[in-house]
Amino acid sequence: MREILTFGRYYKKKLGKRVKKIPLAISGFTCPNIDGTVAKGGCTFCENESFSPNLEKVNKKFFLNPNSKINPILDKQLKEVEFQYIATKRRYKNLGYEKFLAYFQAFTNTYAPFDTLKALYEKALSLEDCIGLSIGTRSDSVNEEILDYLKELDSKYEVWIEYGIQSIFDKTLEKINRGHDSKTNEYWIKKSKDKGLKVCGHIIFGLPDETQEMMLETLKKSIEWGIDSIKIHPLYVVKNTALAIEYRKKRFKPISKQDYIDTLLKAFKILPKNVVVQRVTAGIDNQTLLAPSWCKDKNRLISEIRKALRKEGMIY
Ligand code: SF4
Repeated sequence: MREILTFGRYYKKKLGKRVKKIPLAISGFTCPNIDGTVAKGGCTFCENESFSPNLEKVNKKFFLNPNSKINPILDKQLKEVEFQYIATKRRYKNLGYEKFLAYFQAFTNTYAPFDTLKALYEKALSLEDCIGLSIGTRSDSVNEEILDYLKELDSKYEVWIEYGIQSIFDKTLEKINRGHDSKTNEYWIKKSKDKGLKVCGHIIFGLPDETQEMMLETLKKSIEWGIDSIKIHPLYVVKNTALAIEYRKKRFKPISKQDYIDTLLKAFKILPKNVVVQRVTAGIDNQTLLAPSWCKDKNRLISEIRKALRKEGMIY
């Protein structure tokens, strides 16, 4: 049996500890694909709240961008980092986790003035049991200065940068209104790797008009670009998104559960043993989910995926 290298196993092997990421959603953050810098409206599937549990608690009236000259909400942001970290850590400690990475998850977490980013990251790193960071971002929202700084932090802490790859096909990226092309992903992922950073790539199976070959091609290219870790999930439709309109007009058909699991099994056969798997699906158990209904019960889906993987000689 091949044991898939999960995030937990990776850190158990590396540090001998149970490590967990603590998701953070900080007021003032947005995304260049939402604020009009590269596009408006965001990715067609984006309803950031459905991906970021802490987001509903934060202020959504004031937004920063990398050129903002002042940040009147920095104190509030620093308090949010501390409050959210401590509250979630308490829960995870009770579950037996020992050390934590602060996961800047919601929106684009390098899309703010550099001084703000430094203050927030360093605040997180000062908190008890925090051994590092994971920064979720877009490849069009990083630069040499940020990557060099993260590399500097990486000499003392565990530092990951997470890029939304989604697909390597520009046609698909256009269809989902991604606002950047695949070359941008390739360039900045390779650049991050050249600097020695740990990179996690997010990819989606079931994007509009993609075949299984295309989905697996995205995985293969992401591996070639050097990603250290992967997150995969099926495209699901939530209310109040452009994708919901497409779905209601019957112009988008979600991937079936069977096809998703089958693609996932093929993906794992391609995946090198040293690539850390951080996610094999995603789901949302509330009224905002429109389709597919099998994305409602994430835990059940994970157990089906585990069973299917076992049959193929893999333990997740
Ligand atoms: S990049 Fe992320 S935050 Fe920005 S629009 Fe797309 S999914 Fe939403």
